Amino acid sequence: MSLDFLPFTRPSIDEETIARVADVLRSGWITSGPQVLAFEAALSTLCGGRPVRAFSSGTAALEVALRLAGVGPGDEVLSTPLTWVATANVILSVGATPVLVDIDPTSRNIDLDLLETAISPKTKALIPVDLAGLPVDRDRLYAIAARHRLRVVEDAAQSFGAFWNGQMIGCSGDFVAFSFHANKNLTTGEGGALVVPDDVDLSRCERLRLQGVKRYPDGGMDVDLPGGKFNLTDVAAAIGLGQLEHLTHFTERRRALARRYFARLDPALGLDLPPADFTHSNWHMFQPLLPPGTQRGAFLAAMKEQGIGVGVHYPALHLFTLYRSLGYAAGQFPHAEDVAARTVSLPLFPAMAEADVDRVCIALAKALGR
Ligand SMILES: *Cc1c(COP(=O)(O)O)cnc(C)c1O
Repeated sequence: MSLDFLPFTRPSIDEETIARVADVLRSGWITSGPQVLAFEAALSTLCGGRPVRAFSSGTAALEVALRLAGVGPGDEVLSTPLTWVATANVILSVGATPVLVDIDPTSRNIDLDLLETAISPKTKALIPVDLAGLPVDRDRLYAIAARHRLRVVEDAAQSFGAFWNGQMIGCSGDFVAFSFHANKNLTTGEGGALVVPDDVDLSRCERLRLQGVKRYPDGGMDVDLPGGKFNLTDVAAAIGLGQLEHLTHFTERRRALARRYFARLDPALGLDLPPADFTHSNWHMFQPLLPPGTQRGAFLAAMKEQGIGVGVHYPALHLFTLYRSLGYAAGQFPHAEDVAARTVSLPLFPAMAEADVDRVCIALAKALGR
């Protein structure tokens, strides 16, 4: 690999953030403490004052949300097959049954018409996913949830900084889970957060986060439920606080680079481009679909040869061994399977220059034999 290899993503960490982390390391308190409280307060401010609790991962936030929503054995939870497998794994973790529904081929998010037809008397909750940072239609989603009295756990792992109705995702809705994994728009290395609705006991949320422990002022404690080990560290929270200062800039840069892709990708290449949304999406990823019949493995290799990293997000999860063993099979979700087979994630991260996009577009034309 040449020195100027362009990865599909790379976090932007500034010197101030590195200094913040060094301060935490020197402070003598490196696990959950004042930095986590400050990070939660900053996230809450961004989410219109709603309560937010930090977690060790987006997966942990999703799992705790399902537990707080009362989802357990015998319940069905509806979600999409085109997502990171964490979305469905957490449904299994709480003992419930994932019921997957095909995507809308345009948005590539869950098809809300199909979603409504898949609701059964056992359905307890919905987990919509904002793939690539493009929000699921919240107005339609919550109308369906209200009609059928269902809880919603928004998997907003990819849509931190995206908007719906002029407000940041997280400002409204039921449960909203974010991920701060290294590849996400805002990172703490590993980490996540959960926006908690008003009808939920925050102390219970905190007990589910850390071993069910309730502490008393006299130094005593009690445990009344089997909580997890899902707390965020102060080291990670300090990274998050440093990142938050750049959130608007990160989103603007991603949008500008996405616009450049739309301007520079040659329509003659036969790619199916994502919706050109510059109102809602935070442009977490830029994902064209390769022309039908393209050998994706050869395409990835040809891009790598030219010094460009391309990702694949995601294989349709119902075709993984675990989900096949639950009865899912090929052919069940044709739109998700088609997108999954053809999708590629082109380089997109805030530190990229417009010239990098141009370079990707030239390499892509070459890799497709143009
Ligand atoms: C990243 C991601 C998750 C999980 O987040 P982690 O922080 O990696 O646990 C869940 N759902 C989606 C859609 C994701 O992209």
